[in-house]
Amino acid sequence: MSGSADVYSLLKEELKGTGAEVLTPDSPGYGESIKRWSEHCEKRAKAVVKPTTPTDVSTTLRFIRTHKIPFVVRGGGHSTSGSSSIEDGLVIDLSKMRKVTVDPEAKTITAEGGTIWEDVDVEAAKFGLATVGGTVNHTGVGGLTLGGGYGYLSGKYGLTIDNLLSVDIVLASGETTTASKDENPDLFWAIRGAGQNFGVVTSFTFRAHPQPNPVFAGTLVFLPEKLPQIVAFANKFHETTDGNQALLWGFSAPPPLNLPVVLTQIFHNGDAEFAATFFGDLLALEPVVNTTAMIPYEKLNGLLNHTAGFDGRKQFGGGAFKLPLNPIFVQALLGDFLDFTSARERMNESLMLFETVPYKKTLEVGNDEMSFSNRGEYYNVATCFKWFDPKLDTEVREFSRALLKKASQAAGVVQDEQVRSVEGVGTYGNYSDVDIPASEIYGGNAKKLAELKHKYDPENLFSRGTRLIPRPVVVVN
Ligand SMILES: Cc1cc2nc3c(=O)[nH]c(=O)nc-3n(C[C@H](O)[C@H](O)[C@H](O)COP(=O)(O)OP(=O)(O)OC[C@H]3O[C@@H](n4cnc5c(N)ncnc54)[C@H](O)[C@@H]3O)c2cc1C
Repeated sequence: MSGSADVYSLLKEELKGTGAEVLTPDSPGYGESIKRWSEHCEKRAKAVVKPTTPTDVSTTLRFIRTHKIPFVVRGGGHSTSGSSSIEDGLVIDLSKMRKVTVDPEAKTITAEGGTIWEDVDVEAAKFGLATVGGTVNHTGVGGLTLGGGYGYLSGKYGLTIDNLLSVDIVLASGETTTASKDENPDLFWAIRGAGQNFGVVTSFTFRAHPQPNPVFAGTLVFLPEKLPQIVAFANKFHETTDGNQALLWGFSAPPPLNLPVVLTQIFHNGDAEFAATFFGDLLALEPVVNTTAMIPYEKLNGLLNHTAGFDGRKQFGGGAFKLPLNPIFVQALLGDFLDFTSARERMNESLMLFETVPYKKTLEVGNDEMSFSNRGEYYNVATCFKWFDPKLDTEVREFSRALLKKASQAAGVVQDEQVRSVEGVGTYGNYSDVDIPASEIYGGNAKKLAELKHKYDPENLFSRGTRLIPRPVVVVN
């Protein structure tokens, strides 16, 4: 019976009285429920289930298995790979599961599977605490954590998964279990990097850290001719940071002027005097916009929200770079980026970002200690292209890959099998498409992941993320 309309009436019956909603295309709220951060990821699902408890999730998963219904899970809906939306199947949408609980004594934060980072940051700040969250606070805790997680606090505390203590997860069988260092440690190993492939995480418990308030942060915008000095500053930052700072810098042509600029986003987890000295060389470069200030910590991850609106089609891509960088090389990348974006309609809000988040702390964990395999002596570089014309989809994707390859290879990050197992893959899975080989994201861990997949999801029901084992062929009625 798989995808037929009747099957969803049966599911409605099963979930009746639980608080869960089952929306079909004729239901009020259906249109809103299939919206995604990128328009090209909006697909007309046959049904959207909004559970409110792990039991609802479990009921839904058992139902899905019985009726062989293709499905996806939606956390915050921000992935640009399309892995949280589906045309001929069902969405398990966790947006009604957004409770956050803080234990100030134990210094832990527990966030339900559908929370966004704003939920976590705001609640934890009430107790003077924080964990490593994403730099745009409407991004989902779910997808970001299960794929790794970098944030402003990574220089001090490592990745989001380095601060993950345990998860409650509903497996493909419908069984609910816990994964942590002590319970199901192999599953815990797998979900920290490849979590989308192993179940529906209904809650995450993170280690929380005392977070001084306020912090120093903001945006500096420069004319493109300042690029060589900004690259020189990034090279210096690499040598001088003590892990309490972050520097994101890159290219765009944002509104209202839509003219090319070099954007920098700076952060110091401390006072304004130190920040003024530390970032002195940058501040002296006469930015045309300077929004830096002391701000409440819980506002930090909201500073870039205006650059990440919900309109348009978008494509994230990821690579890696090493510092020091040669300004002439970066100038060439800027040229390639602008040649492509300025020659096409409404691509000015596209962004190429060099995420100079100190990595020393992330290297305290080995690439074999979790499935996540992108730890190495390099930084992430991301592209986020934004456009409106669907005819450009393929062209944008191909250009993004070529540009990132050029940035990564010329910067000395070698992406071959041998180096991967030792040094990190040089590609952050959360910035990637799901159609690339698992070894490009998980390096030497791909084999063990395939084995664990057979143990925890033998029918490969969770098959929409990076392919760990061959996808099942599903026939939809
Ligand atoms: C504007 C923007 C800013 C970003 N900034 C950062 C950043 O600072 N740091 C960083 O590391 N990354 C960042 N990213 C990348 C981000 O980590 C990914 O886009 C991530 O997939 C978003 O998670 P989501 O839950 O919002 O997405 P979704 O599209 O909902 O989910 C992504 C994947 O995770 C699965 N999933 C989500 N929740 C669950 C769950 N509870 N249980 C099981 N599976 C689940 C989905 O099925 C899907 O496969 C950013 C992305 C955007 C768009």
